[in-house]
Amino acid sequence: MPRLVLLSNTTGYQAGAFRQAAGGLGIALTLATDRCHVLEDPWRDGAIPVRFEDPEGAARQIVEFARANPIAGMVAIGDPPALTAALACQQLGIDYHSPEGARAAGNKFLARESYREAGLPTPWYARLAVAEDPEPVLSGLPFPCVLKPLGLSASRGVIRVDDAAEFRAAFARIRALLGSPDVRGRKGESADWILVESFIPGREVAVEGIVTRGRLKVLAVFDKPDPLDGPFFEETLYITPARIDPAVLRAVVAATERAVQALDLRQGPMHAELRIQGSEACLLEVAARPIGGLCARALRFGAGMPLEELILRHALRESLEGVEREQAAAGVMMIPIPREGVFEGVEGLEAAAATPGVEGIEITAKLGQKLVPLPEGSSYLGFIFARAETPDSVERALRGAHEKLRFGILTSLPVVP
Ligand code: ADP
Ligand code: CA
Repeated sequence: MPRLVLLSNTTGYQAGAFRQAAGGLGIALTLATDRCHVLEDPWRDGAIPVRFEDPEGAARQIVEFARANPIAGMVAIGDPPALTAALACQQLGIDYHSPEGARAAGNKFLARESYREAGLPTPWYARLAVAEDPEPVLSGLPFPCVLKPLGLSASRGVIRVDDAAEFRAAFARIRALLGSPDVRGRKGESADWILVESFIPGREVAVEGIVTRGRLKVLAVFDKPDPLDGPFFEETLYITPARIDPAVLRAVVAATERAVQALDLRQGPMHAELRIQGSEACLLEVAARPIGGLCARALRFGAGMPLEELILRHALRESLEGVEREQAAAGVMMIPIPREGVFEGVEGLEAAAATPGVEGIEITAKLGQKLVPLPEGSSYLGFIFARAETPDSVERALRGAHEKLRFGILTSLPVVP
């Protein structure tokens, strides 16, 4: 039975989906996670406890494990796990993304540097020290700009600013976020900086792909039909195939290929986001890992193969030649948190689920959970999945279902006696 290591800093749905797919394929999957202190051996089968904030140390532990228990490859979910996997694979002689590439993909400043050096279209950008007074740089900024942390994800801490006053407020807000214990402890040096870059207007798309010996295979291109003009950037709808014309699609794929090369992502999944300006595509970011959370559920390949199975097969060096996404259009809505408060439940689930085209609704918020909206928050209320003949009907299904949901959010916290 071949063995793979799954590197993940969560033990939630996505890790579970890989575990299930591995079971179906007869693959032994060993989990490497930093959640072991919370959940002693979460799968009860000898998880490797690691600390992803120390990627070199974590890689050493995985290498040690692999010397005692030969492994065929690795799969990483999340940016820090991807870097650890790249370092460990390099030492073990397993084909994977280069450590430099995985590191840059997980650091928005390093990534911009790589793209600029490679001659890719790049917005104006600069890295500002959180601890320093930003006042001196203010007069030179090409407003509108976007401020963002280097190493967070899901639009957490990403804020558009149109003038100096907005800049000051946003800078202070991101500084506070980067100083909060959950970020500080896990993000290390990247929490010392804020990236500022010029705002890139245009429609946004996402590319899901997988790289084999440096060659990108595009698995799906999504469009994001909701306008993403800020000041915060809630991801809501992801719909595939993207409704863009073929020439633009070619530009999107070409820019993604160049970014994969610039970063030296060689082997394994990747997820990119770009903005379209006329017939050009400008990169927002490329991650050295698959799409996050439950979103992968929107993707099916061939006769219904989930993305997780495809990634595991690829990690075992199976050829993906001829493997294509299904014919149907598909999409997912990440249900944003509309306001801060305590989650009290949801109504209208049955009606929403009965919306034609809707295949499933997962409410991931827990009763009594404190809900934090963007830019500080990092979670969603849940996910809606749809499949239909056309992208337009997928979009209608997702929006229709969402309208039927009524979320109870208690905005003033009850006083604890
Ligand atoms: P994250 O890792 O948090 O997803 P991104 O850099 O992808 O960070 O930013 C999140 C979202 O913010 C993007 O999907 C995009 O909508 C918006 N955004 C980020 N940078 C820019 C920019 N320079 N111009 C326009 N929009 C941006
Ligand atoms: Ca992103």
